Amino acid sequence: MTAVLEQTRTPGLAARPLAGKVAVITGAARGIGAAIARELAACGTNLVIDYAHSVGPAEGLARSLMSEYRGVEAVAVQADVADEAQARGLIAQALRRFDRINILINNAGITRDRTLRKMTIEQWREVIETDLNSLFYCTQPAVESMIEAGGGRVVNISSITAESGNVGQTNYAAAKGGMISFTRSLALELARYDITVNCVAPGFTETDMVATIPGEIRDMIVGRIPLKRFGTPEEVAAAVRFLCAEGGYITGQVINVNGGLYM
Ligand code: NAD
Repeated sequence: MTAVLEQTRTPGLAARPLAGKVAVITGAARGIGAAIARELAACGTNLVIDYAHSVGPAEGLARSLMSEYRGVEAVAVQADVADEAQARGLIAQALRRFDRINILINNAGITRDRTLRKMTIEQWREVIETDLNSLFYCTQPAVESMIEAGGGRVVNISSITAESGNVGQTNYAAAKGGMISFTRSLALELARYDITVNCVAPGFTETDMVATIPGEIRDMIVGRIPLKRFGTPEEVAAAVRFLCAEGGYITGQVINVNGGLYM
């Protein structure tokens, strides 16, 4: 990745600092994942856009990025990353298509909110499988390619809930908090290979995930956010781009993008 950093300082190439790199983004058909895909494509990154069910939006995104950013190749691949075989299959397909993976964004996530006393074992397991176990399934095979390539970037999309806690989210907080601990340990393991591993922890961000919050609760939350609004997927994606394009000396960190709600 040192070469990547040098490129960012080269006049003329500055607009496309990740030209020719290959990124896999999980759960990228919509929301924050799609915004990350757009941001990395603008930097010249070739993309594997993972989706669980939304084939139309995922393929549409791949097509629009290829037409908007000349030279960028983007492919949509179906894989439920909560399933070990499918997650490993995603990485294998990415390698078949592009021969290498330089960047992995573990973005796919779900919520199944319930207080602990009412939570079912299915609600617990679904969130842990999707938001935490998928990290192991995707990252383990992907880092082998990064080691061969001489460096790489892993960015895990955690959550403000990991650090602040939240009523009704013991499952989600455990998964997203586990993600932060996973990140720190893996950062230590992979530093010798010039692979950085970081988290971006969004606060309330305007996507389908928060679309069902009732109006009065939403107003109450906004009232508690110092910047007095929800964030946008693009603001989260900008932090991911920074880590990928310019974060060569940043590893094992959590970048909070939360309007000051948790400091
Ligand atoms: P979203 O629901 O719009 O997007 C999540 C994406 O993940 C969807 O495309 C979904 O299909 C995909 N996905 C879910 N399970 C999957 C699986 N098993 N395999 C493959 N794909 C799967 O929500 P979002 O806000 O864009 O969420 C993106 C990430 O950001 C999640 O990890 C979420 O926990 C995190 N996050 C979101 C917020 C927020 O306020 N929106 C806050 C903190 C963290």
